[in-house]
Amino acid sequence: MILEAISKNFFLFLSNNKFLDKFAKRFGARFGADKIVGGETFSHAIPVIQQLNRDGLHVTVDHLGEFVTSEVEARERTHGCIESIHSIAHHELNSEVSLKLTSLGLDINRALVMENMKLILDEAKKYNITVTIDMEDSSRCGDTIEIYKELKQDYENLGTVIQSYLYRSEEDLEALNSCQPYLRLVKGAYKETGKVAFLEKDHVDKNLRKLIKANLLGGHYTAIGSHDDAIIAYTKEFAEKNDISKEQFEFQMLYGMRNETQKQLVKEGYKVRVYLPYGEDWYGYFMRRLAERPANVAFAIKGIFSK
Ligand SMILES: Cc1cc2nc3c(=O)[nH]c(=O)nc-3n(C[C@H](O)[C@H](O)[C@H](O)COP(=O)(O)OP(=O)(O)OC[C@H]3O[C@@H](n4cnc5c(N)ncnc54)[C@H](O)[C@@H]3O)c2cc1C
Repeated sequence: MILEAISKNFFLFLSNNKFLDKFAKRFGARFGADKIVGGETFSHAIPVIQQLNRDGLHVTVDHLGEFVTSEVEARERTHGCIESIHSIAHHELNSEVSLKLTSLGLDINRALVMENMKLILDEAKKYNITVTIDMEDSSRCGDTIEIYKELKQDYENLGTVIQSYLYRSEEDLEALNSCQPYLRLVKGAYKETGKVAFLEKDHVDKNLRKLIKANLLGGHYTAIGSHDDAIIAYTKEFAEKNDISKEQFEFQMLYGMRNETQKQLVKEGYKVRVYLPYGEDWYGYFMRRLAERPANVAFAIKGIFSK
C-alpha cells in the first residue's frame, strides 16, 4: 500500500516534468507507450481505429498535448484537431473526439480558447461528430464547467467529464442538469489535495456510484469511464433494476486496458467506447497511466528492452 502510494506520487511528479517531456519526445514512442497510444500521428491511428471498429468498439480520439503556452501553438493544435475530424469523416471511422482546453489556450486567455473551440465544434457539427472536453486538474475545473455550459447552448455535439474524487462534483452535476449534458463520469487522474478531493479510494468509488445513479435517473446519456469491475457491475445492476435501457449509457475504457473486458461487454450487448490517444506528446499521459496502475510498469520495461 505504502509502495503503491510512493510510486503513484513518483509517476505523477514525473508526468509534470517538462525536461523529461522533451527528452521523451526525442526518444519517440518507446518505453511501451505504443501499447496504450495509437501512434505519433493521426494517420498512424487510423488502422488502429479501424481494427477497434471491426471488433464492435466505438472510439474517441485524443490528440495528446500538454504544456501549451503560446497562442501559435494553441492555434496549431486547433488546426490539428480539425484535420483529425476531417480524417474521421473521410475514412468513415466510428469515432468521436476528446480534447483538453489547456491545449487550445485555456492558460493563455478565455477568448482564444472559445474561438478555437467554436472552430472545432463547427467542423465537428458538419459531420455529426461529438467532441468531449476532458477534465484536467482541479484548478481548471471551474473554468472548464463554465466554458462547457456556455458552448452547450449552441452546440449539442459537446460533452465533458466529471471526476468523482472532487468534492464539488455532485453540485457540478446538478448545475449541468438543465443543459442536457453528455457526461463521462470518471474517478479522476490528477494529484489533488484533501482540500478539494476525497483521498480515500472508498470515498471516490462511493461518489462515482452516486454520480452514475443521479445522471442515469436524471435521464441523461451517461458514459462511465472506468476499468473497475465493481463500478461496471454496479452500473449494469443499477440499470437493470431501474429499467434504464442500454441505449442510455456506454462504458468507456482507455486503449490497451482491459481488452478482454471491452470485448466481453460488447458481446453482452453494451456499448463500449475506447479512448485512443495519439500524438508526439505521449509522455504526460503515459506517466499518469503508470501512476494509476503500477502493474503497467511491467509492460513499460518490456517495451524498453524489446526495441
Ligand atoms: C475513457 C476514459 C477517459 C478518462 N478521462 C479522464 C479525464 O478527462 N480526466 C481525468 O481526470 N481522468 C480521466 N480518466 C481517468 C480516470 O479518472 C481514472 O484515473 C482511471 O480510469 C483509473 O480509475 P478506474 O476507475 O479505471 O480504476 P481504478 O480505481 O484505478 O482501479 C480499480 C480496479 O480496477 C481494476 N483495474 C483498473 N485498471 C485496470 C487495468 N488497466 N487492467 C486491469 N484491471 C484494472 C483493478 O482491479 C483495480 O483495482 C479517464 C478514464 C477513462 C477510462
